[in-house]
Amino acid sequence: MAKLEKGYVQVYTGKGKGKTTAAIGLAVRAAGADLKVFILQFIKMGEYSEIKSLRRFSENITIEQFGRGRFDGEPERGDIVPAQAGLERVKEVISSGEYDVVILEEANVAVKKGLFPEQNLLDIIDLRPPAVELVITGRGATEKVIDKADLVTEMTPVKHYFKEGVKARVGIEK
Ligand code: ATP
Ligand code: MG
Repeated sequence: MAKLEKGYVQVYTGKGKGKTTAAIGLAVRAAGADLKVFILQFIKMGEYSEIKSLRRFSENITIEQFGRGRFDGEPERGDIVPAQAGLERVKEVISSGEYDVVILEEANVAVKKGLFPEQNLLDIIDLRPPAVELVITGRGATEKVIDKADLVTEMTPVKHYFKEGVKARVGIEK
């Protein structure tokens, strides 16, 4: 049963820190209101700390991964196949009526990397029933995705310790 009177399309993009944590924060908030949340992670694979945390909210939050990990350069078949499966899963999930909030993690990056055409993501936005809140994260949101969204936040790295060589830390970035 849908609980939102009206859902909107949100995009968290940009090179600064905070896209994934904003999406997870929203998921936790939504769970507190007994909304049902589905998080689908493209590209990513593995036990990010948020996955361990979100298990505690399993009544309200479902999270699935459709990737085999971050990669540099051109995608291989092993990256593309799960992404395509992820797209099919999103279509099921979004039209099932079971979820109030659907989060597509790294979907912008999946488009940029050529895991699927931009049009596939635009089609999902169009497929969204009005009561579903759709959240799309990842650097490099395309103009067309931005045009279709109702809310777009661009995280800007005023400073980022990554530049000083600080790699992703467990519990803080992963
Ligand atoms: P968070 O998960 O902390 O909210 P995010 O989702 O906004 O961050 P991503 O774009 O998904 O960040 O970045 C993933 C990883 O890339 C980060 O954990 C970090 O190690 C690295 N990273 C972040 N910012 C930069 C940057 N400006 N340049 C290069 N690498 C970066
Ligand atoms: Mg992220």
